[in-house]
Amino acid sequence: MFSLTMFLSLALSVVTVSTSSLGDAQVAISPLNASYIDSRHDYWNARQSNYSPSCVVYPKSSQDVSVAIRAIRESGSRFAVKAGGHSPNNFFSSVDQGVLIDFKSMTAKSYDAATTLATYEPGSNWGQLYEFYQQYDRTVMGGRLSGVGTGLALGGGLSYLAPQYGMACDSFTELEVVLLNGTITTASTTSNPDLFFGLRGGGGNAFGVVTRYTVQSHPIGKFYAGTLIYVLDHAQKVLEATHDFIAYNIDPKANILVTYETLTTPDVLLNLDEVIVVFIVYDGADPGAAFSNFTQIPRLLDTSKPNKAYTEVADMPIPYTAELSRADNVFRIGAHQISGSDAYREVYDRYAAWADANKGLYVFVSLNFYPVARSMTDASRARGGNAMQMPDGPWFWVNYLLSTPPGLLLDLHDRVQASFRAMVEATPSAPGLPLFLNEAAVDQRPLASFPTYRRLQQIKREYDPDGFFANKTGGWTFD
Ligand SMILES: Cc1cc2nc3c(=O)[nH]c(=O)nc-3n(C[C@H](O)[C@H](O)[C@H](O)COP(=O)(O)OP(=O)(O)OC[C@H]3O[C@@H](n4cnc5c(N)ncnc54)[C@H](O)[C@@H]3O)c2cc1C
Repeated sequence: MFSLTMFLSLALSVVTVSTSSLGDAQVAISPLNASYIDSRHDYWNARQSNYSPSCVVYPKSSQDVSVAIRAIRESGSRFAVKAGGHSPNNFFSSVDQGVLIDFKSMTAKSYDAATTLATYEPGSNWGQLYEFYQQYDRTVMGGRLSGVGTGLALGGGLSYLAPQYGMACDSFTELEVVLLNGTITTASTTSNPDLFFGLRGGGGNAFGVVTRYTVQSHPIGKFYAGTLIYVLDHAQKVLEATHDFIAYNIDPKANILVTYETLTTPDVLLNLDEVIVVFIVYDGADPGAAFSNFTQIPRLLDTSKPNKAYTEVADMPIPYTAELSRADNVFRIGAHQISGSDAYREVYDRYAAWADANKGLYVFVSLNFYPVARSMTDASRARGGNAMQMPDGPWFWVNYLLSTPPGLLLDLHDRVQASFRAMVEATPSAPGLPLFLNEAAVDQRPLASFPTYRRLQQIKREYDPDGFFANKTGGWTFD
């Protein structure tokens, strides 16, 4: 490990920052350093581990972040900001020959029982945050899986609790932000309200670096939850049950995540290369008939039961999980109407045909249905709304995951990606629905689908006037 002073001189050849203001951030420069190796390899999309940062900075405070940002700006270096490393998009939280700011040393968290507000730094993952707040019988709005990081909340943040409380960003009350000139400020409805608006679902890497989140916490008890696994023979029945849940469920405590998963292996034996997994989650002991459309269909496995802690819900296993794989993973997203639309059938049919036709060219593909309930869009609006300004539910997002083998020849890799993209684009998203930024590919330009896009462009011009973020790190484009 090196001090930030050495980082400035060795990695950036910059010596103009006073050492007294450097804070005590640690810096890893050697590719053989254990922390450096860990930071470089800990990406959900393994492709990003191919890049070699010139150094990795581990800030311990917003002052350290401010110093690093000023130094990076002065040097003209490229850089990236990394929380949980789950963005599949290259250079969003990874960098080649530039400075990686890794938040893993900023993990402070606290709870104020008087106000029920929770405050946390960006370096924990959701499992760690859920576990911490569980002792107070509270939780924060985050993701459905424990391993994902806090960058999720800046892109909206969809959890099983969203039909009750809206997206994760809807619960922000105040953010501490390091601006791109190094100034440390706060953003809330009363302080820098435009910045606050942009950070509520407008994504990381756009307006500033968030160093502390203060959020409204929510009560948490025990859940009825589990995983239902079906063989492919029941694909159509599960599809219709998914349609009916999205279209007709009005209980905000009930939520599902439906995933069709296909391995590259040939379907010679009982179609075991394909499986359907439905996560059912009910905030309470008795879901009543909320999931009966799914439980009527014969299951290969059913782990659902009451009395599960929220941390267990966030750790529910995925069979062929790309969370565990070290492959090249990309996401694409679609947004579709449910009423009077056959889009749910079309996306499934195209996905299934593509998965069959391209055996051998991927490790794993999956198609995932995310309901957007009316109660969720109402809850978001009641809290002031976010950058997506989501139209009234019900409608749904559909996520497509493509996992290709590391080392696939570049030409082949590009051809598979192009054909996967064409498959997704064959079912265009419904006009007027925002694309889910957290799971969009960079070429999908999700921000342009938001009704607030013009306002976001203005905020971008105000907070990134000389295009520092736009030019020196990866992220969403605003033009
Ligand atoms: C297995 C898996 C499960 C997922 N499940 C969900 C889910 O349930 N709900 C959901 O909404 N999304 C989900 N996602 C999508 C996820 O929200 C995005 O991938 C998100 O970008 C991950 O955040 P991160 O902190 O892990 O990633 P990172 O790649 O570290 O960060 C994501 C982006 O935010 C920026 N960023 C991070 N922290 C800050 C900060 N403090 N200030 C400024 N910019 C910052 C980064 O630079 C990067 O551009 C999932 C993704 C995966 C791979």
